[in-house]
Amino acid sequence: HSKKLGRNCYNVFKPGMNELMERRRELEGDMDKALQRGEFEVYFQPRVSVATSRITGYEALLRWNHPDRGQISPQEFIPVAEACGKIVSIGAWILRQACTAAVEHFPGQRISVNISPVQFQRAEFVEEARRTVEETGIRPGLLELEITESMLLGDDYGALKRIEKLKSLGFSIALDDFGTGYSSLSYLSKFPFDTIKIDRSFVSGIETNENARLIARTVVDLANSMGKAIVAEGVETAAQAEFLIRCGCGELQGYLLGKPLPISEAIEARQASFEDLLAFRGRDEIDD
Ligand code: C2E
Ligand code: MG
Ligand code: MG
Ligand code: MG
Repeated sequence: HSKKLGRNCYNVFKPGMNELMERRRELEGDMDKALQRGEFEVYFQPRVSVATSRITGYEALLRWNHPDRGQISPQEFIPVAEACGKIVSIGAWILRQACTAAVEHFPGQRISVNISPVQFQRAEFVEEARRTVEETGIRPGLLELEITESMLLGDDYGALKRIEKLKSLGFSIALDDFGTGYSSLSYLSKFPFDTIKIDRSFVSGIETNENARLIARTVVDLANSMGKAIVAEGVETAAQAEFLIRCGCGELQGYLLGKPLPISEAIEARQASFEDLLAFRGRDEIDD
């Protein structure tokens, strides 16, 4: 049955594509007013240090509370915002929100903000980020910008200059979704990242896939030997956490430690200790 579907895939898929394009067009239209109407909200997902069992910082993750459609995932609307350029104003907004929240509610904890390639490739980005830091009063070292390998493609020089400038201003730079892009290793040697985030796809394979385990372990080793901070993304189970801890992974992020939360809930949880979850435990206990 499924084979038949596969053969007709093109015909089956085509109307779906049109619907998708239609929905994208509608989202793009709605996006115009969404910022002014206050429909965007920043969620905060904790990042936990293995050494201290405490929250070292948060990743700011954008949510769109659409009046008719409910909450829309960034996976759906960020690409639309990037295609039409609105990501520039939305991105500036979330950066400011994240810095303001960090100063007011998360003293001493780091805030990480995803930066779109569309934002990052603009020459004005560095100056805008500098001004946001100045105006919100956040210590630049507590602000981490998450970028992806795709931003470094084809524009080595501009991107390198910008990263170096941001570093000289005191920002931290994280390489997000590590292992999913191109020629990862050459980027690691060329660009002065502070942090590497292992992509969730490797973490989710830890319990079932020997290659995912090997890759996770190798990336942790590489980051540690290069003196970079290493964060595992998408940690969902105690067994994944244990494996990563045994490998020497310094920080964990994922549903096991906490889902992205609206600010009020993140504030309530900010002093949480994860000692029980992260304490080294024997195989037998993990498996039951
Ligand atoms: P990302 O930067 O890799 O962010 C991590 C994503 O993994 C988030 O999805 C988070 O909710 C999800 N996640 C965290 N822990 C777990 C887990 O244990 N299991 C699973 N299954 N998922 C987990 P989210 O919030 O839907 O965001 C998706 C992507 O959208 C982000 O991936 C990021 O690339 C982009 N994004 C989100 N907010 C922003 C933003 O403010 N600006 C830009 N440019 N992109 C953003
Ligand atoms: Mg990220
Ligand atoms: Mg990202
Ligand atoms: Mg990621």
